[in-house]
Amino acid sequence: MGRRGHAIMVALPYQGHITPYMNLAIKLASKGILVTFVHLEFIHHRLASSLSEPDPFSMARKSGLDVRYKTISDGFPIDHDRGDDMYWEFMLQSFWIRVDEFVGKLIRSDPDLVPFLVTDTLFTWQTAVAEKHNLLMVSFWTEPALVFSLAYHVQLLRENGHCPCKDRVEEEINYVDGVKSVNTKDLMPYLKECGTGTIAHKVQMKAFEEVKKADFILHNTVYELESDTLSALNKIQPNYAVGPISFSSNLPAPVTRTLWSESDCTNWLRSKPSGSVLYVSFGSFLLASKQVVGEIAYGLLLSQVSFVWVVREDADLPSGFRDEITERGLVVPWCNQISVLSDPAVGGFLTHCGWNSVLESIWCGVPMICYPLDYDQPMNRKLVVDDWKVGINLHEGEYVEREEVCKKMTWFMNGGVSEKLGKEIKKVSAKLHDALENDGSSEANFDRFVRDLKAKLAANAE
Ligand code: UDP
Repeated sequence: MGRRGHAIMVALPYQGHITPYMNLAIKLASKGILVTFVHLEFIHHRLASSLSEPDPFSMARKSGLDVRYKTISDGFPIDHDRGDDMYWEFMLQSFWIRVDEFVGKLIRSDPDLVPFLVTDTLFTWQTAVAEKHNLLMVSFWTEPALVFSLAYHVQLLRENGHCPCKDRVEEEINYVDGVKSVNTKDLMPYLKECGTGTIAHKVQMKAFEEVKKADFILHNTVYELESDTLSALNKIQPNYAVGPISFSSNLPAPVTRTLWSESDCTNWLRSKPSGSVLYVSFGSFLLASKQVVGEIAYGLLLSQVSFVWVVREDADLPSGFRDEITERGLVVPWCNQISVLSDPAVGGFLTHCGWNSVLESIWCGVPMICYPLDYDQPMNRKLVVDDWKVGINLHEGEYVEREEVCKKMTWFMNGGVSEKLGKEIKKVSAKLHDALENDGSSEANFDRFVRDLKAKLAANAE
């Protein structure tokens, strides 16, 4: 019998990456692979602060999985504000030294195992560490394959004058294999003129140099939704669509723990008629501008629509808003998004189009109103609204204005949806559910990946 594989996983410190990545760890462990899962210390403190059990994998271990849990310091104090460029400059230049030391020790402590790296694609240290310790590299991408493909082919975009490209130029990108045609207006801002001097651009570009050296690439998407793009990528490197990983039916102990404590909306939702509530959230990371928040708030008030709104920065709401909404609206700092979206009272989701939110909304069959803010979100909007037709745009003009918001929301929540989007979302949702059936594409792809991985690990260990 060959030596056992040992996946070493270090989590990127963002909510949208943590949940799918932790569930990937559990999925790997369920295939007999030993996993060492590592959180940055400050994330560990955030996740553990309100809980008696600080180890997020204790349930997984109780159900027989071999997941070891460790933490690593990024060198900054726990309460350091990591929202600035300096932090990511450091991560870009120097974090690999800490990971290298950690991985070296881990490997030496268990020489009978065959270690390999499973990293978030957006980290930038993996090649240095993999090459030094002669490790196979698995890269996990938490956004659509379409976004991956565009960033992967950035050199082509450069040659065609689309990276950088002027923010207001609208041209078609139709020369990337597997991408039919996308408009530059939907391009990720870190590839546009306004974004190319930013730390986000630097990190993404370095990350996409790194991923070209990965042995395997896993995508948190579904083959049937992005088949052309994935097939084209497969001609270059082994890519596997294995999503949406967090809903995988074979996960013995799925991880749902989040960085903020959750307000319970169940009782409030219970009092509302089926399909009558709009859920509003812009994710875990970015904030809409105060002006936009204000227009949405007044639009909601004018519309008479019932809503649950996740507002992380209360100060951005117009003064007096909370008093005016009465029992029609519920404003919370954080909630269990999946349980809100699964509630029969919820009939729509005003979202920033973060990829997890898109997958969760489709999974629960809830059509979307889209207001993308940054990163992959404009391109995700294109998939949701233009390609899959399971959502609409919040506004058509340049600015978000309360009258338009009110009109859209009223139409959306009062029957406009059921005819136009309801049928489509059922179809797309079925694709996600089917992919995770035992004989579905994501399950089959995951099994194929594990077979290919084990074969390559065995060959490397000889
Ligand atoms: N989320 C949550 N409660 C909230 C708001 C968001 O649990 O009140 C979760 C949501 O379910 C999703 C993640 O936070 O899994 C946000 O990820 P996404 O990719 O949608 O956006 P990001 O936060 O990365 O911009």
